Amino acid sequence: TAGQGETGLEAARAELRRLFGFDDFRGVQPQVLARVLAGQSTLAVMPTGAGKSLTYQLPATMLPGTCVVVSPLIALMHDQLRAARANGIEAATLTSVDSDWRETIDRFRAGALDLLYVAPERASQPGFRDLLGSAPLALFAVDEAHCVSEWGHDFRPDYRQLRGLMDAFPQVPRLALTATADAHTRADILDQLGIPRDGLVLAGFDRPNIRYAMRHRDNPVRQIAALMAEEPGPGIVYAPTRRKVEDLAGKLALATGRPVRPYHAGLESGVRADNQAAFVASEDMVIVATVAFGMGIDKPDVRFVAHAGIPKSIEGYYQETGRAGRDGDPARAVMFWGAGDFATARQRLAEIDEARRAGERARLDALAGLVETAGCRRAVLLRHFGEDPPPACGNCDNCLAPPRVTDATETARKLLSAVYRTGQSFGFGHLQKVLTGVEDERVRQRGHDGLSVFGIVAGEEARLLQPLARALQARGALVATEHGGLALGGDARAILKGEQAVEIVVPPRAERRRRRDASP
Ligand code: ADP
Ligand code: ZN
Repeated sequence: TAGQGETGLEAARAELRRLFGFDDFRGVQPQVLARVLAGQSTLAVMPTGAGKSLTYQLPATMLPGTCVVVSPLIALMHDQLRAARANGIEAATLTSVDSDWRETIDRFRAGALDLLYVAPERASQPGFRDLLGSAPLALFAVDEAHCVSEWGHDFRPDYRQLRGLMDAFPQVPRLALTATADAHTRADILDQLGIPRDGLVLAGFDRPNIRYAMRHRDNPVRQIAALMAEEPGPGIVYAPTRRKVEDLAGKLALATGRPVRPYHAGLESGVRADNQAAFVASEDMVIVATVAFGMGIDKPDVRFVAHAGIPKSIEGYYQETGRAGRDGDPARAVMFWGAGDFATARQRLAEIDEARRAGERARLDALAGLVETAGCRRAVLLRHFGEDPPPACGNCDNCLAPPRVTDATETARKLLSAVYRTGQSFGFGHLQKVLTGVEDERVRQRGHDGLSVFGIVAGEEARLLQPLARALQARGALVATEHGGLALGGDARAILKGEQAVEIVVPPRAERRRRRDASP
């Protein structure tokens, strides 16, 4: 009952001061704690850095018995373990790399543990259920709970076994935790983990000190070096592949003279740990990393997060950029995107199994919407997480310099029909020549100078072609073929038939000028 929750909350506040030395709770922590202490199962959706760990660590120390924490990564578990022990909490892990199993199990059975961390693979083994049956339990905490949903961006089949395990202990409350869940995924988590609908506690997702910006990528080294020149503090640059990580790290170090280190799963673990530790300790280092970097890292003074390619989803973007400015001081999140990023991602859709494809496509569409919007980026982000934000934030690129938007429906129809008439196999360069009436060798050879679309775009309109092609690729109306050509996809037919309008953001003049200057 609420009364119980209140008294529980007072005791929790005292415990918060005693164990952690913090003055008071933050955000939705008290709501979550009140529910958990009253034995009510809960799904807490709180952004990274909002303090999720406390919401199970405190009850773990207050309630009799052990809180069993399911956590997806061994490295993450050991970070949590160290932190918990440093605060005087009795904690242990049962993972393949632990050698003190016997002792841990004895302590667990004797009720001497506050926290026991396990991986979902372990939790789903039959022996583990027997072990739970032989020990006093306080709470099930399921960390990174979006992994239970196929709609989530990180589905882990073993999470599906947790429901059965927890159902065997119906008197033990459940606390599911995630930083990233859209409405669809949230509903799915509740179902999959057997938490009642009214058990959802949703924190505010806004990070007002982060300034969001998204730009087309033309020269990533020059663009990121320019950002680094403006931001002398620590930064993270996310790159899509190990090779790009290595390449960018080397070039950025050369171009800027700043300390720059790489981080990816292919590096030897000693080197990785070294680079991470150096970054955490540094006041000016930039780490170039794959998405493998960042989980469990507590560095409050990261001043910028740059993306050298598109993230996997809005959830991923929010989580990765959320590592900037945790100290509350101004920080920046800048994404440098290319049309090819979307084309490649959409190509990959065809390779994944059908059950997951719709979810992945929806995620990509949502991301394209964020990248392409002429409106407030923050508003798009927060709406994605189920909030109802004001239409303008005043702290994103589009709010600070509203872009020019133009109706490019007619030009889009011309471009798409050129793609169609040339057989859906040519790249943008060739299509541009055909549309603007440039008669080169290849155009003549293929007879494309005789097509009805030859030379139908001129003057100002020609300048729309490039941003338009990018926008159409981002939204999937143009897709890349294996050989780098462009083919029709998604809504292309609706646009061709005039059933759908196409509005695009016209790149600012300064950017256009710079690009012209840069090319010979
Ligand atoms: P999350 O898991 O949600 O990303 P953590 O649990 O790692 O976040 O907490 C992020 C940081 O905030 C940690 O350094 C933690 O000690 C700190 N923190 C959590 N709750 C509070 C609080 N009530 N007051 C002050 N600091 C807090
Ligand atoms: Zn804004």
